[in-house]
Amino acid sequence: MAPIPGSGLAKGLAVTLRTMTRKTVTEQYPDALPELPPRTRGVIGLFEENCTVCMLCARECPDWCIYIDSHKETVPPAAPGGRERSRNVLDRFAIDFALCMYCGICIEVCPFDALFWSPEFEYAETDIRDLTHERDKLREWMWTVPAPPALDPGAEEPKEIAAARRTAEKLAAEQAAPEQPQGGGS
Ligand code: SF4
Ligand code: SF4
Repeated sequence: MAPIPGSGLAKGLAVTLRTMTRKTVTEQYPDALPELPPRTRGVIGLFEENCTVCMLCARECPDWCIYIDSHKETVPPAAPGGRERSRNVLDRFAIDFALCMYCGICIEVCPFDALFWSPEFEYAETDIRDLTHERDKLREWMWTVPAPPALDPGAEEPKEIAAARRTAEKLAAEQAAPEQPQGGGS
């Protein structure tokens, strides 16, 4: 059936009228910052103290945009007569956000909780080379990482927190105990 002349125009005007009467959803960015969900993938923060330079993140990154350099250091034995140990020391950790596709694989595979998502997204650059964030910058992003969600009520206490609590309780008990008198006291 042939279309009625002018029906397209009428439909278009109807859409315009409907839209005109709706509440506007325009975000006034940058004057007003958007309210982002807590798990927004903005940028990656590095908690360097947790990184053992295992290279897993760099190997698993599909874009090969994580650059890590390290060297080995010999650590003296923990006890006399023990063997010397060697450990990796981080020299460089960088992520090229011009290549990153925000898949989150590096964060998922890190066995030592050294990488975290931050919702920060305002790091556009005019020079693409500045999108490679070195370790100092990645560390700064850590300050913008939101706190993890609370555990379910009744969930088992995390091992690290339980160990820290036991140590703190032991120290407090030692400090509270009355001091033993020195010597025999004849
Ligand atoms: S988010 Fe994905 S692409 Fe980006 S650095 Fe991590 S693994 Fe690579
Ligand atoms: S996977 Fe984690 S611990 Fe291993 S090199 Fe990457 S950030 Fe460091």
